[in-house]
Amino acid sequence: MAESTELALHHIGVAVRDLESALAAWRALGLEPSHREDVARDAVRVAFLPFSGGRIELLQPMDAASPVARFLDKRGEGIHHVAFRVTDLGARLNHLKALGYRLIDETPRPGAAGSLVAFLHPSAMGGVLVELVQPGEGT
Ligand code: ZN
Repeated sequence: MAESTELALHHIGVAVRDLESALAAWRALGLEPSHREDVARDAVRVAFLPFSGGRIELLQPMDAASPVARFLDKRGEGIHHVAFRVTDLGARLNHLKALGYRLIDETPRPGAAGSLVAFLHPSAMGGVLVELVQPGEGT
């Protein structure tokens, strides 16, 4: 099991109703998108805006059945999840599972930009939706 010091902030996911107007506001703050992608599996259109030490991930639902659409209906726009970078995603999931923590993804699955990702259930993390990201090669 890796030391917790190997965890690093990867990004903060922010749910938005309209990606373009959200991008305009973050641009005004000084952030520019480095990567945009439609993640069909989660029905979200995403844009990553890097800053020193992390990224903002803007998430706009692509249809009403998207988990992000349900989040917006329930809670409105705002912080959706916090993502940490790891190098040993499968081992960490097995470790958490063995300790009895509830996972949304019990095994790594493809995320944006060639990464592997998994979400922990908010009920396991004090109400915070936590994503673990193992970046793809060259990202
Ligand atoms: Zn994310």
